[in-house]
Amino acid sequence: MNIKYDTENGLREVMLTFNDGPHSVLTPKLLDILKSENIKAMFFVLGINAAADKNIKIVKRAYEEGHIIGNHTYFHRNLKKLSENEIRAEILYTEKLIKSFLTVPKLFRPPFGATNVSVNQILWEFGYENVPSSVDSLDWKDMNGRWVEHTLNQINAREDSVVLMHDTYESTINHLPELILPIKNYILNDFVIS
Ligand SMILES: [Zn+2]
Repeated sequence: MNIKYDTENGLREVMLTFNDGPHSVLTPKLLDILKSENIKAMFFVLGINAAADKNIKIVKRAYEEGHIIGNHTYFHRNLKKLSENEIRAEILYTEKLIKSFLTVPKLFRPPFGATNVSVNQILWEFGYENVPSSVDSLDWKDMNGRWVEHTLNQINAREDSVVLMHDTYESTINHLPELILPIKNYILNDFVIS
């Protein structure tokens, strides 16, 4: 599933994706930014954060505001190191929490991008599609906003981009407008989901 943007030079896609939330303060702040920018994003929700105090309401808000909700497991463990039963539990505990917000097919992103044959088999069984990212912002590595330039360079070098960020870092939310502005310079606002 992609969000496609019409540009003056044809069709180009930039999908903003956020892993590891919801965060009680930062995710609502992010939703405010996305709303004012009229951008739809993907949220790969971590079960333990969605289960925390009233945070499920934030996921609900994201869903109601047109964002796409996916599963990012419960405890953020490396699935490659788990038994099949543990892998199933990681996926299903989170699914239970966010079931009414999931798409068809359901979308998944594994912690650390770690998958193997067992993980892929279980995802297939459960009806999940893995959504890898193509641009890694490395926002977790740099709290001073230099990740923005690093990310824009990658986006500029590609036709389409699925950008990995995290809605659990203040610096990600604070510097996000600096990423959005240049993208919008060559991307028009209307989009369709296909
Ligand atoms: Zn993660």
